[in-house]
Amino acid sequence: MGATSSSSPRAVKPPPRTRAELLSELTRRLEEAGVAAPEAEARALAQAALGEAPEVFFARLGEPAPEKALARLEAWCSRRAAGEPLGLILGEVAFFGLSLRVRPGVFLPRPETEGLVALALERFAKKRAPRVLDVGTGSGAIALALKHARPDAQVFASDPSPEALALARENARRLGLRVTLVPGHLTAGLRGLDLVVANPPYLPERYREEAPPELAYEPEKALYAGEEGLDVARPLAREALVALRPGGALLLELDPTNAGLLARELVGLGYRGVCTLPDLAGRPRYLLAHAPAPEAAGELGLA
Ligand code: GLN
Repeated sequence: MGATSSSSPRAVKPPPRTRAELLSELTRRLEEAGVAAPEAEARALAQAALGEAPEVFFARLGEPAPEKALARLEAWCSRRAAGEPLGLILGEVAFFGLSLRVRPGVFLPRPETEGLVALALERFAKKRAPRVLDVGTGSGAIALALKHARPDAQVFASDPSPEALALARENARRLGLRVTLVPGHLTAGLRGLDLVVANPPYLPERYREEAPPELAYEPEKALYAGEEGLDVARPLAREALVALRPGGALLLELDPTNAGLLARELVGLGYRGVCTLPDLAGRPRYLLAHAPAPEAAGELGLA
């Protein structure tokens, strides 16, 4: 194999020589394509294509990258530059310390939802064996992260999509985490929950005009929810009043443009202690509300 030339007949440019050179070339290409974090993504692609852990990759920065990984890397880089999300190219996403399998047809877990998990964990920090439901679990991200952090929790995860439930099941099995998967919409008839948590579809229709190309690779149903983006969160909040035990919490990730709107509606519905909470960028991204305690529930005709 020593005589193999490094220039294949189809290659437009000669392949870069070292991992370091490869990285700067990939970074430049991703940056030109408008990728928001080109350096981090170039590194993730290169490490995955080479099958190298970070410490190995860094130790070999000055060494030539193996020829056989270059064709794969080239294909991955073109896909990423065309807008395909990194997670779908790699087939996995890191979420709250877990590595989750992902695939087309199921919503990709996002960093902002890690903030939702952190808030959920805070909610039941003092409660033993809490009963929790993750609505619209998708890949299982929220449910699995909660179960991982709180093995004593009884975690349910609902989703109407069979593809999503199959993926969540696969992730649960791979991670050895026991969650109860429930096929169905919203709260799927569950009762007596301490927490209902969800990252529902919440993008308003008008967002389609400014949506980044990445969104075209995910199911619309997991992203958009009508004119205000509340077509799923609103009915969920109504159902949760019945699914939660008195005093139980509803915790939602929403769009900064509609979280305040739903918060006001939840006060009208009888929820107590309603507030929006900021994401790391300071935008009102999460909504927390509590089901009324028994006496209040009685007043509202819910008890
Ligand atoms: N945060 C996602 C985005 O902006 C949307 C998530 C959702 O609709 N649940 O791409």
